[in-house]
Amino acid sequence: MGNSRALVLFSGGQDSTTTLAWALDRFDAVETIGFDYGQRHRIEMECRETIRAKLPALSARYAERLGPDHVVDLKALGAISETALTRETEIAFAETGLPTTFVPGRNLIFLTFAAALAYRRDLKHIVLGVCETDYSGYPDCRDDTIKAMQVALGLGLDRRLVLHTPLMWRDKAQTFALARAIGGKPLLDLVIEDSHSCYLGDRTTRHDWGYGCGHCPACDLRAKGFAAYLAAPDDTGLIP
Ligand code: ZN
Repeated sequence: MGNSRALVLFSGGQDSTTTLAWALDRFDAVETIGFDYGQRHRIEMECRETIRAKLPALSARYAERLGPDHVVDLKALGAISETALTRETEIAFAETGLPTTFVPGRNLIFLTFAAALAYRRDLKHIVLGVCETDYSGYPDCRDDTIKAMQVALGLGLDRRLVLHTPLMWRDKAQTFALARAIGGKPLLDLVIEDSHSCYLGDRTTRHDWGYGCGHCPACDLRAKGFAAYLAAPDDTGLIP
């Protein structure tokens, strides 16, 4: 029996919450890692604690498998990144064609820290909820970037690490459907109620897709995804 221990990059968002449930279904032991990089939507750090606290009640398997959480202070990343996620800058599209929410190299840095922790904790699998399908054009979310990182980290640590990206080819609607397929309505409800997407950190306005300002790119993506999910024919057999 091989090493079936995993580390999930868990931000408290829709994607990483679904990814965490996906990992809990597959691996014998699952730990989580989160990063505090001075993000404007720091409320997600509280959401991740709520979600971790509620997950064990959804399934005995989740309760058995969910292990420790690790929060890494990466404020230096925020300090060197002039972006709309870490500064009071308008969220817009820059001349590069990328939104001003782009934090250069964020996932490369996250993965390197995750790999260092995975090495120490003897976790062979690293799972992250990046997606190339309806993302904001972030180059560090691309499948090729993640595959290259798997090679680089494996060489640099001289240990086989496997990077999993279950959402890579799913759009937001399919990610809602995946949550429903993995954990039924209780998991979907948890994703909607407690996961956080809004870049502005709004948790006062409740929509049918969850909390958020309703206007920023993250809210827009989530709202459209949820509408598409509701409109899609049910292929899970779970929706009444
Ligand atoms: Zn928003």
